[in-house]
Amino acid sequence: MDRILIIEDNKTLAKLIAKKIASELQFEVDVAYKLSEAKLFLHKYRYFITLLDLNLPDAPNGEVVDYVLKKNNRVIVLSANIDKEFRSNILKKNIVDYVTKGGVDDINYIIQTLKRLKKNQKHKVLVVDDSMVFRKQLKGMLENLFFQVITVAHGEEALGMLASTQDISLVVTDYNMPVIDGLELTHEIRKIYSKNDLSIIALSSNDDDEITALFLKHGANDYIKKPFSKEEFSCRINNAIEALENIHIITNHANRDFLTGLYNRRYFFKDMEDYFAKAIQNSENFAIAMIDIDHFKKINDTYGHDLGDKAIVTLSEILRSNIGQHDVVSRFGGDEFCIAVKDISPSAASDVFERLRQQVQNCLTLSDKGEEIRFTISIGVALNREDTLEDTLNQADLMLYNAKQNGRNQVVYN
Ligand code: GH3
Ligand code: MG
Repeated sequence: MDRILIIEDNKTLAKLIAKKIASELQFEVDVAYKLSEAKLFLHKYRYFITLLDLNLPDAPNGEVVDYVLKKNNRVIVLSANIDKEFRSNILKKNIVDYVTKGGVDDINYIIQTLKRLKKNQKHKVLVVDDSMVFRKQLKGMLENLFFQVITVAHGEEALGMLASTQDISLVVTDYNMPVIDGLELTHEIRKIYSKNDLSIIALSSNDDDEITALFLKHGANDYIKKPFSKEEFSCRINNAIEALENIHIITNHANRDFLTGLYNRRYFFKDMEDYFAKAIQNSENFAIAMIDIDHFKKINDTYGHDLGDKAIVTLSEILRSNIGQHDVVSRFGGDEFCIAVKDISPSAASDVFERLRQQVQNCLTLSDKGEEIRFTISIGVALNREDTLEDTLNQADLMLYNAKQNGRNQVVYN
């Protein structure tokens, strides 16, 4: 587990912060009340981040900052000093943030910042700037915020990098660059990636307000004018990433079924409509199966609705664990599920569905009273696709109806 070191001589405050971090975040927390104690900890461990008070009994003038930075640990400064010049001098050092320690709000701010930094580790940022000095500076600032950083020297290189690297969350681009400038780059990126997929922040020393507007019109999410403060930069970058994460959360909610976490009907059609056209074009085989629990009403009536829910979740787990990453498992509603297995031969598909049927038949669900409940499923499969996705689904539905008519607990193919 990652560790955090708090170096703070106010024991009550140090303990309060440590307690809050331990309860809200998954970190081991060490507390040192003076520099000499901190040195022992720093000798022993590497820290995710260190929170430093500037006035310690054995280091009254912020000496701790340089010491900890020299040991290659990231630093958030805690200070009661709000003097502008003092603050700006400390901010010139390679620290992550400067937090005034006044009250509860400040502690909450620290917690939010730590959560943000932890999540930033998952994000890749592409920096596009023709100045090597500035590129290096931006890389350092972004790495200090825990991002994975890739740098390139101009727009053309950036487009190549985007094409060859997966999951870039944010592009930070300069305006004036050779070959393709920042504006053109933004325009090109937006042809491929929407604002929901990738955030763009433009930088420029250009005082022309028109450029700002043009960047935003071309699809940039935000714009930072050079020169900028480290704090403004951090806030804007973090805001952009947070907005992107929120969009992902909302999209995920819209695409998923609440009870099982499987995709819902809406997502199934969205994903499959594109795939269906491509599969027909490439003559790719696939199978679509409608699955329904047998006599599910009886489970609800006999053991209660909660156990019915449990059975649905159990089934969803069996379906998920037997189906590949690129296939789609969705809950259409009630006890009805639909699976699309892509790029699969008819015989391999029949193995998959027979295995599913057997696994469900052999699986036990336990009631609160310890009763062992078994249930079965019927599966209707369309192996030969029809003219449209809808017709193919209707075929699978018809096969499911036949499976039910023939006595349930079986797989029927068209
Ligand atoms: P059959 O073998 O013909 O499918 O019989 P069945 O009893 O399973 O009939 P049907 O599929 O029509 O029954 C679906 C039942 O599922 C009806 C409804 O009360 C129940 N149901 C729908 N959604 C939920 C849910 O989210 N949780 C629970 N526990 N029950 C649900
Ligand atoms: Mg049913």
